[in-house]
Amino acid sequence: MNEKKFETRAIRQQNERTRNREHSVPLYLTSSFVFDSAEQAEALFDGQVEGNIYSRFSNPNTDEFVTKMTDLEHCEEGVAFATGMAAVFASLAGLVNSGDHVVASNSLFGSSLQIMTKILPRWNISTTFVAPDDPDQWQGAIRPETRMLFVETPSNPGLRLADLEFLGTLARERNLILNVDNCFATPYLQNPADFGAHLVSHSATKFIDGQGRVLGGVVVGQAELLQDIRFFARQTGPALSPFNAWVLSKSLETLAVRMDRHCDNAEKLAHFLSSHPKVKSMAYPFSASHPQFELARKQMKRGGALVTFEVKGGAEQARQVVNQVQMISRSSNLGDSRSIITHPATTTHAKQTPLEREQAGISDGTLRVSVGLEEINDIIDDLDQALGWG
Ligand SMILES: *Cc1c(COP(=O)(O)O)cnc(C)c1O
Repeated sequence: MNEKKFETRAIRQQNERTRNREHSVPLYLTSSFVFDSAEQAEALFDGQVEGNIYSRFSNPNTDEFVTKMTDLEHCEEGVAFATGMAAVFASLAGLVNSGDHVVASNSLFGSSLQIMTKILPRWNISTTFVAPDDPDQWQGAIRPETRMLFVETPSNPGLRLADLEFLGTLARERNLILNVDNCFATPYLQNPADFGAHLVSHSATKFIDGQGRVLGGVVVGQAELLQDIRFFARQTGPALSPFNAWVLSKSLETLAVRMDRHCDNAEKLAHFLSSHPKVKSMAYPFSASHPQFELARKQMKRGGALVTFEVKGGAEQARQVVNQVQMISRSSNLGDSRSIITHPATTTHAKQTPLEREQAGISDGTLRVSVGLEEINDIIDDLDQALGWG
């Protein structure tokens, strides 16, 4: 199927039809599978033949979702998870050992930071945090015991980019695993494996579902690494439910059209905010004003659906805007068909110290908008009236 275009592969790759000749894949709500014979059971458990045994290990709905994600991310194998955090955790815990060291971006999703600062140290795994856009810091943080580089690009919520080609080369030269959380870009806008990433992790809860209904996660990457992650997942049990897998596989069919509209809307909102008298600064990767505009065009197809801006007047004015929006949802989520506004300093990043927030590019006046699929003028009008207050 690889010669077909992204949109086609996302739609046309599906499980083989059953004898019912269904057009769309059915939902397989079954916890276990039956064996035709004792010999077949033995062969399946032995791994001599591939097939379903138990839905914690595999299920036709999860398989279809993983097969598509693996293909769309140009990877070899994948494993699905109940949530994005289960995927991120397994991509670390399945591979790093006591005494190992991780170099990670200082601008990660909150729970990923918590795993690295509070959970992994209990097993003697330490992390050094670096500015995602500073090659010298990445290089300087590597130690003999370093095993993995972990990054999100664009970053949350500052929308700073890490240079994927640089990191891919660094990982190869130093024999490290490059693990990229590609949640913000989705495989439609960016394929980290093309630049040398060994693992690509996702929260499918965001743009892959895209309509704020189900949670899910996936890790795709090199077959050898996926073997260890799959072993970890099978034994520890963070399996994606067949129903959520069915929703997510269906959602991939519309990922391209949805992302194009998300990007159209985000570009227009970014343009509107960049000249608004109440706005101090605005970040959007495909805006010419973004300091990494060239890099964005090199490694991303378009700029994505997140727009981050800082209002004049700091925390007080940011609170006003959040309270005055009429249509846009006040939520900490992102990647929904509905536009969402978030005040990172008091919600998603409240657990960080002011210095950590500053390093991640978050001030008290920073607001993040996950631009949805509503008509763009309705989104702009709502923010305009909210900014007009105070
Ligand atoms: C939401 C998110 C996660 C966590 O995903 P869940 O599905 O909520 O567990 C991880 N990384 C990034 C970048 C996210 O936005």
